Amino acid sequence: MSTVSDTIAGLSHPLEEVAATLKARRTELAAELERLTEPPAEGASVGFGKRIGDGTTEAVERFATTATARSLAASIKDIDRALIKIEEGTYGVCDSCGDTIVAARLEALPAAALCVACASKV
Ligand SMILES: [Zn+2]
Repeated sequence: MSTVSDTIAGLSHPLEEVAATLKARRTELAAELERLTEPPAEGASVGFGKRIGDGTTEAVERFATTATARSLAASIKDIDRALIKIEEGTYGVCDSCGDTIVAARLEALPAAALCVACASKV
C-alpha cells in the first residue's frame, strides 16, 4: 500500500485544500441543521380558525424537516469521516474494499468514503 502524501494522484486540489473545503461545508451544514432542529418560535406555526387539515400539513412539514435534518446529519457524518481519513492518510481509499477511489469521484464528492462499486452496493 502506498503512503498517501499531501496530494492524491489525479486530484487537482491538495489535501489541505480539500480538508478546508470540507470543514467549511461542515460548518454550513451544521448551522442549517441547527436551524432546522431548533424548536419553532412560540406561536409561530399555530394559526387560529383553520383547524381542518392543520394537523396533516404540520405532520407533512415536520416529516419533510425530519428527512432534511436526517440527510444533513448524514452529510455531516460523511464529512467527519472524510476528515478523519485525511488525517489517517487513508483519504481516497475505499472504506469497504481498500481500493483507490478515482479522483473524478473525489472531485465530485469530496466526502466520498467508498469507491463507486462499493457505493452502488449500499
Ligand atoms: Zn470499494
